[in-house]
Amino acid sequence: MNKQQILTKRPVGLPDATTWDLQEKPIPQISDGEVLIKIHYISLDPAMRGWMNDVKSYIEPVQVGDVMRAGTVGEVIESKNDKLPKGTFCSGWGGVQQYVVTNGKGWYSVDPKLAPLPMYIGTLGMPGMTAYFGLLEVGQPKAGETVVVSGAAGAVGSIVGQIAKIKGCKVIGIAGGKDKCDYLINELGFDAAIDYKEGNLNTELKQKCPNGVDVYFDNVGGVILDAVLTKINMKARIVICGAISQYNNTTAIKGPSNYLSLLVNRAKMEGMVVLDYASKYGEAAVEMAGWLQTGKLKSKEHVVDGIENFYDAFLKLFSGDKLGKLVLKVLD
Ligand code: NAP
Repeated sequence: MNKQQILTKRPVGLPDATTWDLQEKPIPQISDGEVLIKIHYISLDPAMRGWMNDVKSYIEPVQVGDVMRAGTVGEVIESKNDKLPKGTFCSGWGGVQQYVVTNGKGWYSVDPKLAPLPMYIGTLGMPGMTAYFGLLEVGQPKAGETVVVSGAAGAVGSIVGQIAKIKGCKVIGIAGGKDKCDYLINELGFDAAIDYKEGNLNTELKQKCPNGVDVYFDNVGGVILDAVLTKINMKARIVICGAISQYNNTTAIKGPSNYLSLLVNRAKMEGMVVLDYASKYGEAAVEMAGWLQTGKLKSKEHVVDGIENFYDAFLKLFSGDKLGKLVLKVLD
C-alpha cells in the first residue's frame, strides 16, 4: 500500500491539521515506459503554501483531492523505462507519498555515493540552485561588496551567504534567534548576523553594514525588506526570492513602503524563479559539489521521520524550529 498526504481544502492563513488527510491506496502497476519509485526523502518548502492557493502563479495550484506536490528523492524499484533502470536513485516531483509511478519526465538520476540523498533536494537540488542563480545571476555580487541575506539559516539563505563569501563579499545574515546567528558566524563564516526577533533591526543594520548594502537577497519580505531598503547603496540589487512573512496572511500582502529608496539610489529589485534556470542546473551542481568537497560550502539538513509527521514538519517552516534544509524521511 502507498501512504499519501491528500490536500483536502484550500487553507486560509496558516494551514491546520485537517488541510491534508493521510490515505492509503494500492501501489499502482507500471505500464511500458514507466517506473515505480520508492520515495526516501521529501523536500519541505515554503512554496508549498503558495501552491495551495487557487491563484495564477508560476506553477498550477495543487487541486483539492490530489496528492500534495513536493520535490522528492527516491529509488527505482520496478522499471519499464531504459533511461531509469531498476536500482537508479533519482530526484523529481514525487509528491508527499511513499511510492510514485512516472514516465520519468522531469526526473534526473543522482548518486548516493557522492552525496547523502537529502542533499539532492537541498544544497544540490532546488534550494541550492535558487541560491546559486538568484545570487550570482540576479544579485551579481562583486568582491568587496556588502551582501545581506534574510532567512539566512535556512535552505536557500545559508547557501546564499556562503557563496557570497566565496565570491569575496562581506556577508550579513538575518535570522531568528541567537543559536542561528551564532551558527551563521561560527560554522558558516558569515561576517555578522542579526537576530530579527531581538533588538532593533534598523540600528543593527546600520552598525553591521557601515558601508551600506549592495546586494539584498530577500527570502522573507515584510518589515525586514522595508528596513534593508533604507540602507541600500547606489545601484544596489535586491533579489526577490520569497516573502515567507506574508505567505499565511489573511489580508492582502504588505508591500514595501520604502520603495522610493530604489529611485533615490537608482537601484533594482528583481524577482526570480529557480525553474527558469533548469537548463543550467547541471553546471551549477558541479561547481557546488566542488565547493562542498573542498569544505568551502557546508550543507545542513534537518530530517523529520515519517510521512505521518508531514503536518508537524511543515509547520517548522513557519515557526523556524529547524536549521538548514527541512526534509521528511519517508522510507528506508
Ligand atoms: P527556509 O529558509 O529553510 O525555511 C523558512 C525559514 O523562514 C524559517 O526557518 C524561518 O527562519 C524563516 N521565517 C519564517 N517565518 C518568518 C517571518 N515571519 N519572518 C522572517 N523569517 C521567517 O526556507 P527555504 O526553502 O530556504 O526558502 C526561503 C525562501 O525562498 C522562501 O520565501 C521561499 O518561498 C523562497 N524560495 C523561492 C524560490 C524561487 O524560485 N523564487 C525557490 C525556493 C525558495 P527563522 O528562524 O530565521 O525565522
